[in-house]
Amino acid sequence: MSTPTQPVETPRPTVPELLARSHGQWLEAASRLEFETRPYIDGGYRDARSGATFATVSPRDGSVLAQVHAGNADDVDDAVRAARTAFEDGRWRLLDPKQRKAVLLRWAELVLADAETLALLDTLEMGKPITESVRIDVVKTAETIAWYAEALDKTYDEVAPAPHGALALITREPLGVVGAVVPWNYALLITSWKLAPALATGNSVVLKPAEQTSLAALRLAELATEAGLPDGVLNVVPGLGETAGQALGRHRDVDKIAFTGSPEVGRLFQVYAGESNGKQVALEAGGKSAQLVLPDADLTAAASAISWGIFYNAGQTCNAGSRVVVHESVRERLLAEIAKVTEETFSLGDPLDPATVMGPLVDEGQLETVLGHIARGQRDGARLVRGGARVLAETGGYHVEPTVLADVDNGSPLGQEEIFGPVLAVVAYDGDVDEGVRIANDSAYGLAASVWTRDIGTAHRAARALRAGTVWVNTFDASDVITPFGGIKASGAGRDKSLHALDGYTWLKTTWIDLT
Ligand code: NAD
Repeated sequence: MSTPTQPVETPRPTVPELLARSHGQWLEAASRLEFETRPYIDGGYRDARSGATFATVSPRDGSVLAQVHAGNADDVDDAVRAARTAFEDGRWRLLDPKQRKAVLLRWAELVLADAETLALLDTLEMGKPITESVRIDVVKTAETIAWYAEALDKTYDEVAPAPHGALALITREPLGVVGAVVPWNYALLITSWKLAPALATGNSVVLKPAEQTSLAALRLAELATEAGLPDGVLNVVPGLGETAGQALGRHRDVDKIAFTGSPEVGRLFQVYAGESNGKQVALEAGGKSAQLVLPDADLTAAASAISWGIFYNAGQTCNAGSRVVVHESVRERLLAEIAKVTEETFSLGDPLDPATVMGPLVDEGQLETVLGHIARGQRDGARLVRGGARVLAETGGYHVEPTVLADVDNGSPLGQEEIFGPVLAVVAYDGDVDEGVRIANDSAYGLAASVWTRDIGTAHRAARALRAGTVWVNTFDASDVITPFGGIKASGAGRDKSLHALDGYTWLKTTWIDLT
């Protein structure tokens, strides 16, 4: 049993209360919001050394939300030094597993208790509908932290089958200082996928959040201190990728970079590692995940999952099912079903309005990129089935309609490139299942895929043949902390979630003892 934890002193709205709130209540709560913008190092906030700042702009209306302190190489150095000192003196890693578990469980409780602030920060910074920020980002972040807290005193080391007269132990040791570099699309949740297993195994961490979403990450670290995490064990340095991110990647006293983001930046971290201390680098990069729809599929179920799979979070999900590979005999029926679900479901609006199902894109750059992909796709011969335009521009928000493009050539940019927006590319095939699988696999990426068929044998064969880290059968995006998540090929080889993630933050030590 864990040490009993104290109740949260000030009553704060619970998750069910937050999920029952009106637009007006959220607007009012947003107007009261206060937040920190400084680096969080060694258990407290401090100004960035250079005094430089960068603006974080809210995609809901284009307004400047805050000027965030821009950490540079000096701030990263301070954070790494604090993390190293904490690691070496053992203030965290040498605590009994039960003690570490109690701190992490308390942290998970505080995350839930702070759901209002964390969700608001997430929504204001990246434009995610507030309901989803509460329901997914905050709740699942707390779940992830609690899950690894519970795992840490239930994982055992190994005894090898050594010869009689010897005892050979295989034990897991924490790596030391882990640099976590994360994107903005699930600013809390993806961060928890790194922090929870890294901290559970006794490491110290320096986190570099994405420029667009620094505020929620800073808050998370503050809550960890409140939960009892010793100073210096978790540090957050907001800043630009080229400065703070690069400094962390090149730091000679960092043992590992746990990265989620684009393949291009991921490869830069491999270069940084190679040119500095050869630190480990685990990459979780993007995708162009295929949903393979066979002629016997339940088209209504497929259309619903396909719509959610691409339009959830405005398509800004690494495993978004952005490419449908459908047998041409059922293509038009599927397109009609997708159009129907999309019309009925994906209402665009202010992300602080609980009625909004699809919010804006994260920033103006992403808006232009997505519109550019749509225009180029049409120039390349794709047929616009629905959507395609910016909407609600008068609000200042960066909204793009849910967009479906058919007759896409799988080899074209629309069929190959990750768009990271609400744009579905539909590719038709007219051969057998092997032809469908071949097209689905014809991608530089390998993060996720699905197959839709009522034939169980075909489903199994296709699932085996699809080259992706996660394959779904007759569903999409079903997930939980219990299973590993990550990809192959350009999607990177790292794995977040599940007990396997613990391997990524430990090294194996062999201790051979002579018993004779
Ligand atoms: P990004 O690669 O631009 O940025 C990721 C992080 O790297 C950010 O913290 C950024 O500040 C930092 N960075 C940027 N340039 C850098 C540089 N030159 N040196 C060092 N650090 C640098 O990605 P993004 O735009 O934040 O996120 C979108 C991408 O993330 C998409 O490609 C998406 O597929 C991917 N993603 C992957 C997963 C996964 O688990 N596989 C999950 C979510 C997002």
